[in-house]
Amino acid sequence: MSLAAATVILKPGRDKSVRNRHPRLFSGALKEMRGDAQSGEVVDVCSHAGEWLARGIVHRQAQIAVRLLTWNPDEVIDSAFWWRRVQAAVYRRHLDPLLTTTNAHRLIFGESDGVPGVIVDEYAGHLVLQVSALAGVNALPTLRDALIEMVQPQTIVVRADEERLKQEYGSKLDTQTYGLGQQPDPVTILEDQLRFLVQLHRGQKTGFYLDQRQNRRRLRAYCQNAAVLNLFSYTGAFGVVAAAAGANRVVNVDSSAEALKLAAQMVELNQSACAQTQMDYVCADAFAEVRSRRAAGEQFDLVILDPPKLAQTPGQVNRAARAYKDLNRVGLSLVKPGGLLVTFSCSGVVDAALFQKILFSAAIEAGRETQIVERLTQASDHPVALTFPEADYLKGLILRVE
Ligand code: SAH
Repeated sequence: MSLAAATVILKPGRDKSVRNRHPRLFSGALKEMRGDAQSGEVVDVCSHAGEWLARGIVHRQAQIAVRLLTWNPDEVIDSAFWWRRVQAAVYRRHLDPLLTTTNAHRLIFGESDGVPGVIVDEYAGHLVLQVSALAGVNALPTLRDALIEMVQPQTIVVRADEERLKQEYGSKLDTQTYGLGQQPDPVTILEDQLRFLVQLHRGQKTGFYLDQRQNRRRLRAYCQNAAVLNLFSYTGAFGVVAAAAGANRVVNVDSSAEALKLAAQMVELNQSACAQTQMDYVCADAFAEVRSRRAAGEQFDLVILDPPKLAQTPGQVNRAARAYKDLNRVGLSLVKPGGLLVTFSCSGVVDAALFQKILFSAAIEAGRETQIVERLTQASDHPVALTFPEADYLKGLILRVE
């Protein structure tokens, strides 16, 4: 009995990435399809010589032609398969010693957890499931049942990563909420004894930047009596952490008025931890804001720069590198001598080596002597499968600025 609807044959010499267990097979590697599989169905992948290599879900129009799921010829892609994947991902988080002091974490991180096109974040018993590929859309009912059974959430909010999903899925995803109990908005989560607010439906990404958790922890060490400029603050999570760790003053800057409104509520919620800190909220374009503050001669002990993704594709890397350099050059000039710049890039296509070079150029142009104090990355619930280095997207540097 065949376990797949059809077989995809690769062009000669195009089998390496499949043998190396890379989970994405691009359309340029395909020679032909034997049998007839519709987009979303399971196909076998064979080398040009006819050797069975892997099995996955095909998309006949997308650039990612097959999302590979298994390299075991006997493994069937059925409900039990998805249940095993969810169970393994949930179990990994249960065992993670870095997640014991939070009730918010990423339960499933796409390909790194063997579930392509699906992200699941848990916020204090509420789940946000974000879908970015057809393979994920089709698995949705099964994944939902598995999560209900294993995590027993109060709610599951299904959201579409519109930008990516529109390339693979013509119709609009049914982004309904499965209400299984009370559904507060926003939800309050607890991380390292601080409380944060998360909007499950309207917030950016799935509502909160869980990927910065370990970097929030690192930041604490540097905040005593500091004046902090938190650029691209979103709901001000770094700002709350800085205040709780002894900062005198925190200025949160973001272009989203809604995010800043939540930031102010979050400070209220952590009143006892933040009482000693003067908090400011500035709704502005951060690129312009850094320039006007530099012109005014302002400087801070600690400047945080966490811009949105400036490059989506390899073709955008050069332009993004210039934007990162300009932003960091001005950011450096806002740091007092002896202070720190905490700077990030969440563009996967800008790797850590390039990011360091960008900071080097920015420092030269700013005329500031800088040293790397710490290298930062995404939190442990956003793991990087070694077969899928593309999952490694967040990088940061803590720089001492003389
Ligand atoms: N540091 C945040 C996450 C930042 S995400 C945290 O740890 O939670 C990037 C943020 O940049 C978003 O909140 C977005 O609203 C904001 N943003 C995007 N473009 C901007 C611009 N030109 N000026 C200011 N903020 C901007």
